[in-house]
Amino acid sequence: MSKFYVTTAIAYVNAPPHIGHALEFIQADVLARYHRAKKDDTYFLTGTDEHGVKVYEIAKEKGVETQQIVDENAEIFISLKEILELSNDDFIRTTQDRHKAGARKLWEKMEEAGDIYKDTYKGNYCVGCEAYIAEKDLDENGMCPNHKKKPKLLEEENYFFRLSKYSDKIREAIESDRLKIVPESRKNEMLNLIGDGLHDVSFSRPKEVLPWGIDVPGDDSQVMYVWGDALSNYITAIGYSAESEHFKKYWPADVHLIGKDILRFHAGIWIGMLMSAGVEIPRAIYVHGFVTSEGHKMSKSLGNVVDPLEYVEKYGADALRYFLMREIPTADDGDFSHGRFVDVYNSELANGLGNLVNRVVMMTEKYAKSRVPNKAGSDVYEDLKEYFDKYDVAMKGFDIKETCDVVMRVIDYGNKYLDDKKPWILAKEGKDDEVMEVLYRSLDILRYVCMLIAPIIPATCRKIIDQLGIEVSEDFSEFGELKVGGNVKKADALFPRLEE
Ligand SMILES: [Zn+2]
Repeated sequence: MSKFYVTTAIAYVNAPPHIGHALEFIQADVLARYHRAKKDDTYFLTGTDEHGVKVYEIAKEKGVETQQIVDENAEIFISLKEILELSNDDFIRTTQDRHKAGARKLWEKMEEAGDIYKDTYKGNYCVGCEAYIAEKDLDENGMCPNHKKKPKLLEEENYFFRLSKYSDKIREAIESDRLKIVPESRKNEMLNLIGDGLHDVSFSRPKEVLPWGIDVPGDDSQVMYVWGDALSNYITAIGYSAESEHFKKYWPADVHLIGKDILRFHAGIWIGMLMSAGVEIPRAIYVHGFVTSEGHKMSKSLGNVVDPLEYVEKYGADALRYFLMREIPTADDGDFSHGRFVDVYNSELANGLGNLVNRVVMMTEKYAKSRVPNKAGSDVYEDLKEYFDKYDVAMKGFDIKETCDVVMRVIDYGNKYLDDKKPWILAKEGKDDEVMEVLYRSLDILRYVCMLIAPIIPATCRKIIDQLGIEVSEDFSEFGELKVGGNVKKADALFPRLEE
């Protein structure tokens, strides 16, 4: 048995979850569920990033404690576990003591290695971005291009991290795939970015500039900047501060799942930090793209922001989960359009999957009194094996979209099998034995469809399993056989057709 530790990026709590969060959480959830079903010792972490100037300013505007704001907003992200049917084992919040202790320890280790030093930093600081903006990146009016606000000219004492020292080692890790970056195009992008070497990075802020964060060990006039505070969550959550058994068991992470905009931080700064502190580096970084809405960048002013919670409320978590996994290229940009949502829902979930389940259950009722016929030995595994192999390759290569395609091919196979065999004609001809074989094999195809959809649309999987009377374990790692003579139950349509 091997272990599988997967993380998402922690979400910043200054705004409610958007469809990009939903995409990332569901992708990570699919991977975690897949590995659990394969009996890997799986650990799935997500969480919230709760420090920084933005939440501090929001709280000040509202006249409440910053902790209250982050508590309220974190609650919304925590509730996604239930809403999106996520199976995360833990949820880290960067305001928790376990996190602060681990972040400080990591800092101290880096300091012991001689990689933290003090220097003066001068630059244009945008509060909205919580970052210094290079002169060349300001717009023609000298404003932050994102916030259309004039940045503050700041000169301050910072601690710096000697990232430059690790450039060659980081490059080597990426080139050799010791740190595997998926897809390949992102690996090349990162190698280009490293180019001749990485620069040292500012690693703290004076408390006047950043009043809401973790104090720098040994200097409480300084607060850790986002790198030491946020990236460290992946180890602090699993017990880095005490080097617990739990930490030793799960670290290094098998996959950090992130959006393309934060690749450089994860494949650069984070890796350098770990190397400096003498901690193993993660095995892989999987990078997904951005989701547009109806062909445009999502923005409040365009009024095209997709609210994942609204979709779950109207169509169910599985409909949203399936659409995001099926429609958005797993490691690239994609578009969320309502028209496509309805098309995919109707053609694949209602007509494809729903119809196959309905046909098999109805025919079992009609020709076999709703009992699983005695045709054990008519297993369909060999006929479907090529699909399972493709599915495994796709899942391991971070191509969840392809796994959805395989699922649809198996569903088509099942529907076509019934069309070819025509049990309704065999029944008229009195060929009962053949009818029973067709029914048994169709039920078995459904059982395999359930195995394949379990990581992607787990609630739907459970409903079908219940209809078939198959016993499975909570994490789907134990998947029972059809029980001859067992009752096959009718149920409401899994996915009622939507109006176009
Ligand atoms: Zn800005």
